[in-house]
Amino acid sequence: MRNSESDVVIVGASFAGLATAYFTEDAKILILERQKELGQTQKSTCATSVEWMEKLNCKDSVLKTFDYGTIHSSNGSRVRIKLPETFCTIDYKKFCTTLAGNLENTEILTGNRVIGLDGNDSNTILTKDARYSGKLLVDASGWPGIREKDHKKLNTTKRTMPAFGLEIETEFQGDTDSFHIYYGKRFIKRGYGWVFPTGKDTARIGIGAYSGFKPRETLNSFLETLDIKGKDLPRHGGHLPTIGLGEPVKGKIFVVGDACWQVLPLSGEGIRKTFEYAEFCGGVITKVLRDEMTLEEGLEAYSQEVLNAGRFYNNMRFAQNLAIHCPDWGRNRIIKFLSRVSEAKMERLLVGYFNDEITSSKTRMLKTVIGGMFA
Ligand SMILES: Cc1cc2nc3c(=O)[nH]c(=O)nc-3n(C[C@H](O)[C@H](O)[C@H](O)COP(=O)(O)OP(=O)(O)OC[C@H]3O[C@@H](n4cnc5c(N)ncnc54)[C@H](O)[C@@H]3O)c2cc1C
Repeated sequence: MRNSESDVVIVGASFAGLATAYFTEDAKILILERQKELGQTQKSTCATSVEWMEKLNCKDSVLKTFDYGTIHSSNGSRVRIKLPETFCTIDYKKFCTTLAGNLENTEILTGNRVIGLDGNDSNTILTKDARYSGKLLVDASGWPGIREKDHKKLNTTKRTMPAFGLEIETEFQGDTDSFHIYYGKRFIKRGYGWVFPTGKDTARIGIGAYSGFKPRETLNSFLETLDIKGKDLPRHGGHLPTIGLGEPVKGKIFVVGDACWQVLPLSGEGIRKTFEYAEFCGGVITKVLRDEMTLEEGLEAYSQEVLNAGRFYNNMRFAQNLAIHCPDWGRNRIIKFLSRVSEAKMERLLVGYFNDEITSSKTRMLKTVIGGMFA
């Protein structure tokens, strides 16, 4: 059995794991990834901000940029919104390999599934035939996280039930300067559909919804509604823990990305948030390794940073419930109302979203939305 010792052991070589390694300095890092190749299985639409691609030195993985988002309602009304920053879709495999190539002093072992920890409070991670110890451990293994997988029992209550998304990549003849979100029973019940351009005439087209739905059938019916062929194309997808924040620290482990439920409810945006927390986590780990703080102080600092956004996540979840459970007529009115809001006001709301600042304005937002419905 192989035994190895590193400064940091990270589980998962996707957005969270690779970015945490990128922002960790002066450390010997080991990343364990269960897939045979880096970026082998894409689950996501992979839409994120161009700024982050530049920051991570991964601009070559950008496929298509867009400055607008359009929300469509079941009665055909829509609102086209200017985004405060340029977004893009990325080539997932290229992103993973490029970012991995940018890492220093980091070994990535693919085809290595972590099966658990060697004891509850341990700093040793186990795979089928090896033990990997690290001064610090990071769980970047996505939903539901290694501790959960380790214990093999996921106590999923209604609150902790993730959404599920499925999509295809296909030809698209439409507005590719914008991404598109579709709400309404005509498209999908208790969820939403999307089109994210990947080129001048191609897009990732998918659906996301909560329990009690059949992803394949729902995607097929959404494609039919949009009059898009592609039922036989390969699909990809996975869970979207848009349920409010999870635990940023488990025992002595830093938990980053989907393993900590850092995906924003309503928008389903997980990549940008994952990068933000990975950057903070990498900074804290660097300080711990340099003896500028103790491990306990580091865990506490990371935990506080994540949990500070708890109210913002709860408010986004509230807005998500409103968007999903609202009857079609109400949603149609909201979208009609939003289409009349000035571009400047819309941008202010979005800047709040980008800065995690829709916190104290929960009531204000509710009033605006309800006021708009009945205006
Ligand atoms: C259909 C869909 C569409 C989405 N679209 C968007 C979007 O457009 N924009 C956006 O911002 N977000 C989107 N998201 C959310 C986004 O994909 C996630 O937030 C993001 O992938 C989180 O990254 P992560 O690294 O935490 O987890 P993941 O990307 O899930 O990566 C976890 C990694 O850990 C590895 N792993 C898991 N278990 C083990 C183990 N036991 N041992 C070793 N390795 C392991 C996995 O193989 C994987 O490589 C979407 C999600 C879905 C499902």
